[in-house]
Amino acid sequence: MNGFREELEGLRQQGLFRSLRVVGGPQAGRVLLDGREVLLLCSNNYLGLADHPALKEASIRAVERYGVSSGASRLVSGTMELHDALEKRLAAFKGTESALVFNSGYAANTGIIPALVGKGDVIFSDRLNHASIVDGALLSRARFVRYPHNDMAALGRLLAETDVAGRRLIVTDGVFSMDGDLAPLAELAALRRKYGALLMVDDAHGTGVLGPTGRGSAELCGVPGEVDIQMGTLGKGLGSCGAYVAGSRELVELLVNRARSFIFSTALPPAVLAASLAALDLVDSPAGANLRCRLARNSELFRNSLRDAGFDTMGSETQIVPLFVGDAEPTMEFSRRLLAEGFFVQGIRPPTVPAGSCRLRCTLMATHGENDLERAVAAIGRVGRELGVV
Ligand SMILES: *Cc1c(COP(=O)(O)O)cnc(C)c1O
Repeated sequence: MNGFREELEGLRQQGLFRSLRVVGGPQAGRVLLDGREVLLLCSNNYLGLADHPALKEASIRAVERYGVSSGASRLVSGTMELHDALEKRLAAFKGTESALVFNSGYAANTGIIPALVGKGDVIFSDRLNHASIVDGALLSRARFVRYPHNDMAALGRLLAETDVAGRRLIVTDGVFSMDGDLAPLAELAALRRKYGALLMVDDAHGTGVLGPTGRGSAELCGVPGEVDIQMGTLGKGLGSCGAYVAGSRELVELLVNRARSFIFSTALPPAVLAASLAALDLVDSPAGANLRCRLARNSELFRNSLRDAGFDTMGSETQIVPLFVGDAEPTMEFSRRLLAEGFFVQGIRPPTVPAGSCRLRCTLMATHGENDLERAVAAIGRVGRELGVV
């Protein structure tokens, strides 16, 4: 009647139909999927903090002291002591004047971008940026110019050629979420200076994980002071939930006044804020450094072994290790076969990635054991050969 069934049938025929899988128990390196234990190779809980005792303890104490809800949006009565504490802690962590917490990374990007640019302004966005950046750009009504992935010569030409009456905003993922490669932040910082542009970096996959002290991709690339808008998330490496932007006091004041996803949404609850604070403490401790080390080691072992086995890891330099397949159907068959053998790896299809570039997206955790990873590498190699991927 309404055409829903035909639309769903169309998705099934193209191999693009998606459905939800329920995980039992906490988000650990091994999880229960449909009651069966499998190795989790598709979580963004990179440091294994999602069920860390320190975060759980902090959440429980926050619930006892502050209850379970914030009860209103931040500008109404929803700003609690913990929001303030977390924002001060995030600003100190990132070395900026100020920081602001959003309910999610999606909410942050769809709030920040339209708050900063609009008609008359131009956004220069990497072609592989996260969907939330694209949606924020579309909501802003600024002109949206996409440059080829990490192509600084092309971006330079576009910046030189494009007439801009208002602001120029260059926006990039710090770590590309489906490719695991890094943005060339030093070169982006140089273009920012040359053209007087604003530079925004989405560090969803770098926060807590990359750089000597886990400050993220800007620390890794040595340009923390040159990113005007440092956005990151709290639900991936930090094992909690929500997102932040760190920058100048004026940037944060403007966002408080203009970012609609911040203004018109109930604030994050105490348990989540306390978990984020505990996660930042952990990241700054020797235990955090140890977790980052283990994550880097696991990632390298896994990536190198699969490269040696003939897989195309698509330029991955981080804990995100894609294995290129191509079409949707074999990608999903690969994923199904691995699951049957006890390895939970997601196949990634359009619209998340461009057509013809479907892949398995493997993600590593600090808490994966070496034996488990070796078994995973062996199974992936064998199934890959059976399917003709390698
Ligand atoms: C996951 C992700 C987001 C969205 O963050 P959520 O907190 O999950 O909403 C934004 N940007 C990038 C690059 C991401 O990978």
